[in-house]
Amino acid sequence: MRARGAAGSQRTLSLQIVSFGDEEHLLLSQDVTGAARVEAMRRDFVANVSHELRTPLTVLAGFLETIQDLKLDASRVRDYVGMMAPQAERMKRLIDDLLTLSSLEHAPPPVAERIALRPLLQRVRAEADGLSGNKHRISLEAAGEYDLLGAESEIASAFVNLVSNAVRYTPAGGEIRLRWNSRDAGAEFSVEDTGIGIDPEHLPRLSERFYRVDRGRSRETGGTGLGLSIVKHALARHQATLAIESTPGRGSRFTVRFPAARLSRARQKVGG
Ligand code: ADP
Repeated sequence: MRARGAAGSQRTLSLQIVSFGDEEHLLLSQDVTGAARVEAMRRDFVANVSHELRTPLTVLAGFLETIQDLKLDASRVRDYVGMMAPQAERMKRLIDDLLTLSSLEHAPPPVAERIALRPLLQRVRAEADGLSGNKHRISLEAAGEYDLLGAESEIASAFVNLVSNAVRYTPAGGEIRLRWNSRDAGAEFSVEDTGIGIDPEHLPRLSERFYRVDRGRSRETGGTGLGLSIVKHALARHQATLAIESTPGRGSRFTVRFPAARLSRARQKVGG
């Protein structure tokens, strides 16, 4: 049964009538709103994953059938195989992201190993350069005297996902700025782009799994719709937060904030 709560929110109640004695009944009411929401999310997730996998699989099956049924010369078969490869790649990316998400959800809290920021930032920048293929101006500024305490692979995955989005949603010729700054009170990593931007109405839902502003553009550029969910989970495990500011047509800034408890004095200077 659905009912309206005091604040006007929809609640789901489970009602049970138990008869006992002579003509006596007991009415049991239980608020199952939370359980119903989790079940709806699970159903949506399974439907989304199935849909995301089915599309490339259908294309692959179509090509295989064509190759089997038609007598094609070797060069034509090579063309078809060439067209099949990106579909297989897309399925692989999706499964890799699903496994990353699942391990972030189930793994014990990350150990507080020291993450040397200088090499990490350089790796993230190199990744950005590789993804951009010289189509963007990319800069990195780093300042402050602290390294991070946490799981390096998770932090790297969060930073690389943000950088990959900046490259994918910024047209050629645009600018991408990576900034790291650490102080006694906490640290910040931000990725700013001069890309397509995001309409404010989408901002609150952006890190939901499979939520995309423009499905076509996300897919064309190799997106799975899971990048920001991975970022959000990896950061939450480090008590860090993600803030998004954006102006459609002008660009976006994604800022990660780490609390002081996650910092440790750097052995090597980070800035400069
Ligand atoms: P995707 O694989 O689709 O990029 P994400 O979870 O990483 O999935 O991002 C969700 C959506 O947020 C994207 O589909 C895109 O619409 C939007 N988005 C993310 N980063 C940016 C950005 N830097 N500029 C514009 N839109 C972005």
